[in-house]
Amino acid sequence: MVGTVENLQAQFHQFRMSETSKELPSFLRKAEVSSWTYQEFLHELLTYEEKRREEKMIEKHLKWAKFPYEKHLDEFDLGEQPSLSTRQLKQLRELSWLDHAFNLIFLGPPGVGKTHLAIGLGLEAIQQGQRVVFISMGELVPLLKTEEYIRKAQLRLKRIRDADLVIIDDLMYMAMDQQEANLFFQLVNHLYERSSIILTSNKGPEEWGELMGDQGITTAILDRLLHRAEVIHLNGSSHRIKYRKSVFQSKSVQN
Ligand code: ADP
Ligand code: MG
Repeated sequence: MVGTVENLQAQFHQFRMSETSKELPSFLRKAEVSSWTYQEFLHELLTYEEKRREEKMIEKHLKWAKFPYEKHLDEFDLGEQPSLSTRQLKQLRELSWLDHAFNLIFLGPPGVGKTHLAIGLGLEAIQQGQRVVFISMGELVPLLKTEEYIRKAQLRLKRIRDADLVIIDDLMYMAMDQQEANLFFQLVNHLYERSSIILTSNKGPEEWGELMGDQGITTAILDRLLHRAEVIHLNGSSHRIKYRKSVFQSKSVQN
């Protein structure tokens, strides 16, 4: 017995091919109009399901990443950032550091594009099918401290531990006590050689020790972060200040 189109759709749905299920009537029409062979029909159907699954996965990963905003690398003006060459940026965009679980550390004063670069690379990694999480150090520490009893913290930390790339923004923005430094060490240790980390900081590793208090933990954290890492120093003047929007701008006084 040949099922109705509705029955076939229900069957596709049951086999978790929900995208095909939805589009089946339109595929059947196209098959008739274009006189597809059986083989062509199956090929079109399966290719469509595969493409939609990929798109949905990327949408899901984008949601999970929790980027504070979306900034693409195409919007990054290398003319404004003399410490990064076109070749270096191209190499970073190839993402082979990610395949080898290398870390990237962007250092430099505020406003030079550290967060922009981190988000831009994160977005490209997601397009390649990778799982990425963005978190500021200010958010990460309370999350680690409340993991035992807050369900939301557990979920977010699970995504961080399972990610291919973890972006930790503004490291060492805050001083940590011994317990916090310990929890951070455990996370870094878990990610070590399993995932890549991008860190941004306006302080160099030589100053991180002071902020983490305990020299032993600091050394252990630095060891793991820097073992397989590319440290990129960004300088130049702050893009924020240069392109500062002023409330007086439009009515500036003429000399
Ligand atoms: P940081 O994280 O180093 O403090 P951000 O990445 O937040 O700086 O950059 C501040 C702002 O300036 C952002 O809106 C960013 O997009 C922009 N910006 C910084 N550098 C560049 C650049 N080279 N090209 C384009 N935009 C830039
Ligand atoms: Mg920043």
